[in-house]
Amino acid sequence: MLNASSIENFRNRLRGSLLIPGDAAYDAIRMVPNAMIDRRPAVIARCAGAADVIACVRFAREQDLLVSVRGGGHSVAGKSVCEGGMMIDLSAMKGARVDPVAHTVRAEPGLTLGELDRETQAFGLATTLGTVSKTGISGLTLGAGWGHLHGSYGLALDNVISLDVVTADGRLHTASANQNQDLFWGVRGSSGNLGIVTSLEYRLYEVQTVFGGAVFFPVAQAKDVLHFFRDFAQTIPDELVIQATAMTLPDAGPVFAVAGCYHGSSADAEKVLKPLRSFGTSVADIFDRIPYLQMQSLFDPFFPPGRRTYVKSNFLRELNDSAIATIASLAGTSPSAYSFAPFVEHWHGAATRVSPTDTAFPHRQHPFNFMLWSNWATPAETENNLQWTRDCWNAMKPYLIDSSYVNYVSDEGESVSRAAYGPNYERLLALKNRYDPTNFFRMNHNIQPGRTAEAARND
Ligand SMILES: Cc1cc2nc3c(=O)[nH]c(=O)nc-3n(C[C@H](O)[C@H](O)[C@H](O)COP(=O)(O)OP(=O)(O)OC[C@H]3O[C@@H](n4cnc5c(N)ncnc54)[C@H](O)[C@@H]3O)c2cc1C
Repeated sequence: MLNASSIENFRNRLRGSLLIPGDAAYDAIRMVPNAMIDRRPAVIARCAGAADVIACVRFAREQDLLVSVRGGGHSVAGKSVCEGGMMIDLSAMKGARVDPVAHTVRAEPGLTLGELDRETQAFGLATTLGTVSKTGISGLTLGAGWGHLHGSYGLALDNVISLDVVTADGRLHTASANQNQDLFWGVRGSSGNLGIVTSLEYRLYEVQTVFGGAVFFPVAQAKDVLHFFRDFAQTIPDELVIQATAMTLPDAGPVFAVAGCYHGSSADAEKVLKPLRSFGTSVADIFDRIPYLQMQSLFDPFFPPGRRTYVKSNFLRELNDSAIATIASLAGTSPSAYSFAPFVEHWHGAATRVSPTDTAFPHRQHPFNFMLWSNWATPAETENNLQWTRDCWNAMKPYLIDSSYVNYVSDEGESVSRAAYGPNYERLLALKNRYDPTNFFRMNHNIQPGRTAEAARND
């Protein structure tokens, strides 16, 4: 148990602030966007820089505290906030320095996507991040980072040039293709298992305006639209990124939408998007040439903080006719008008040309990621929405592979976490044994230290 004098001593070791229950900002920082998560850390350290992060790791070890690390707080499983213990909050670390000549940016881990995009867009530059601007860059990047530019430029983690990481022994390492290569490999995809990232350097590309938006179809057409979506996905260039979802529009009720972002000329965009925009009988078409920053916040209004969220997600083995029929039968049946479910993301282009073992993130070969992103407003609706999501999941299981993308899963326990790392699990386990043998960093999709299969074979 922490006593008042050790808390006071620790407060004096920080440049940032230390919050305890009852402090004015305590509740605002411990609450994350998913209102299903309501945990109370014993202390929250609002780090001002890497030195604070090092001090936190050392203090937590001395005191034997459970630790959670908060970037942007958007993990739907609430991995950034622990019950008791110490929340190491990075969200005040928001420095960014763009090198417009080298096309790189050095960013601190507390930035949200919108904040980093704003800094890079001042120079007409961007890197792949996610699709909702309030999401944190570091959790997103360390898990993978699927976004509107991934077809051309790869996932967020594919664009990391170097990063600084504080490991469980309280030491800071710089990792890159030339330095601490094993750590560099493992941190990109292992979602905080190996340490706390205090700085990330990304590659940037020229991106200014894009042609983005969505076409909304009556939900009754979901099956036809999904057939179209599957075939269309096979024809599109890297510059176009698409996703399809059942959702509810305030004025039009349940619809099935295909959203997209094309970066390139308007003439090319019109040509590439013509099959989608002329398909079937749509309810609305909001595609337009818009600033990239507007594209990056287009979906924000659908994800306000304070909603209850439960997500099930996994890659489809194949988007075959039978999977399409099942997905279409679920469209429009969610008990909540706030849900995006069922939902299919298309992964292609540069992100899929990286080998599954080149980074710790293995999912490079399955073009369609299936999701049930259930959101609802009140506790009274929880049981119904959880049950609906689980029933849909059971209906979809035969079509899904065994592992999943860590950034999209709710808390599913050890076997799901293990499967999520696929063929990279054993190599990650060896790194976990080396850099975090006591599982100090365990509020994540956890790799529990233990014997590797190779060690077992040699016994
Ligand atoms: C509304 C919404 C939209 C989303 N859209 C997308 C999308 O378009 N594409 C996509 O790929 N994902 C998307 N996601 C998923 C998102 O990538 C993950 O939720 C991600 O974990 C968010 O990062 P964060 O920093 O906000 O999360 P946090 O909850 O702060 O952290 C998530 C995990 O990463 C760890 N972590 C965070 N920062 C660090 C750090 N610096 N060092 C070590 N460990 C750290 C945390 O401890 C935790 O285990 C979305 C999520 C939401 C809620």
